[in-house]
Amino acid sequence: MEDKINYPDIIEFLRSNIKRETGFLKELEEYASIHHIPIIQPESAALLKILVKLHRPQKILEAGTAIGYSACILAEAMDKSGIIDTIEIDEEMADIAKKNIQEMGYNKRIRVLLGDALEVMECLNSSYDMIFLDAAKGQYNEYLVQSLRLLKPGGLLVSDNILYKGLVAQKEKIQHKHRTIAVNLREYIHQICSDNRLETAIIPIGDGMAVSIKKGS
Ligand code: SAH
Ligand code: MG
Repeated sequence: MEDKINYPDIIEFLRSNIKRETGFLKELEEYASIHHIPIIQPESAALLKILVKLHRPQKILEAGTAIGYSACILAEAMDKSGIIDTIEIDEEMADIAKKNIQEMGYNKRIRVLLGDALEVMECLNSSYDMIFLDAAKGQYNEYLVQSLRLLKPGGLLVSDNILYKGLVAQKEKIQHKHRTIAVNLREYIHQICSDNRLETAIIPIGDGMAVSIKKGS
C-alpha cells in the first residue's frame, strides 16, 4: 500500500461518498490492487473526469498507461469522438492494456505507444488539448519541456503523484531510494508554478495532482 498524503479518515469518508466504478473498470481496480499496480486513486479519477468534462479535449496524451485504467477513465469522460495516445515502457503491461482497452471497446480511440515516455514524446509532432503525466516520476521536468511543445495554447497539463507519498514536502532527510524522485518533483512543482507560460493549481488529492493551463488560447 502506498503511503498516503491525506488523513485516512478523510480518504475513507470521501471514498464512501464518491460514485465508484462498476463492471470491467471495477475488475481492473481489483486486478491493480492484487498486482500492486499504482493506478489512479478514486478521488483523483473523479477529479480527472470533471477536468475532462469541463475542458472537453478532443485529443489527450497520457504518459504511463499501466493496465489502461486511467486511459479508459479519460475515454469515458471525453466526447465519443475523442482520441487518446498513451505511452507505456513495459511491453507486458502495454499488452495487458491493449486487451483491456479492447474489452472496453475503446481500441479505435486509444492508441498504446510502446516506449520510453520522453523518447516517444520527443518524436511526436501532433498537438494535444490535454496531457496527463503519470509515467516516470523522476522525469517530469523533461516531460514538461515536451508537454509545453505538444500542448495547444489553452491546453491542460495534469500531473499525477507530484507529492509522492508526502516525501516531496518532507523536511527530514529522505530515504536514499526515494530521494532523487522527491528532489526532481520539488523542482517540477517549482517550475510549473513559476513558468510564465503556465497557470497552475496544486491539489493534494490522491498522491498529489497538479493542474496547469498553457496560456495563450
Ligand atoms: N496511468 C495509469 C497508472 C500508471 S503507473 C493509471 O492511473 O491507470 C505508471 C506506469 O508508467 C507504469 O506502468 C510504468 O511501467 C510506466 N513507466 C515507468 N517509467 C516509464 C517511462 N520512462 N516511460 C513510459 N512509461 C513508464
Ligand atoms: Mg499516478
